[in-house]
Amino acid sequence: MPTEERTLVLLKPDAVRRRLVGTVLSRWEAKGLRLVAMELRLLDAATADRHYAEHLDQPWYPALREFITSDPLVALVLAGDQAIEVVRASIGATDGRQAAPGTIRGDLSLSNRENLVHASDSVSSAQREIAVFFPGLVANPGD
Ligand code: ADP
Ligand code: MG
Repeated sequence: MPTEERTLVLLKPDAVRRRLVGTVLSRWEAKGLRLVAMELRLLDAATADRHYAEHLDQPWYPALREFITSDPLVALVLAGDQAIEVVRASIGATDGRQAAPGTIRGDLSLSNRENLVHASDSVSSAQREIAVFFPGLVANPGD
């Protein structure tokens, strides 16, 4: 049974700076995922803190906030069968140096911070994160 899901993706400022937006997006389009929303925007610190709420106490969070607000990023919502797990599998491990070849981070990143992409890791985080970036979107297509 297909499980239609939506997931929140960020093409982080390094992806925009390195002109990799099209390269990365084309992988998901080729896979068959559907673009539901997309916007280029400069995050403010408060929105970064909302998005990364679970990481606020990490010692590396101030540097992550500095990075994620340093230049515009592309926020988007992808939809499709098991989209959350499919997209997570496509991005690879957090640290680009350890991410498997064939994944986006494994092929294109050599950093544990500047790792090009964010993708929701569960149905509940997808719903929360979509509401942070696209409050007008219904998080659950079945609703
Ligand atoms: P993921 O993005 O793979 O879900 P996490 O949720 O653990 O990874 O971390 C969120 C983001 O914080 C990472 O994508 C990365 O940009 C940054 N980050 C995570 N761990 C570190 C670290 N040890 N040092 C620097 N930045 C980190
Ligand atoms: Mg995460």
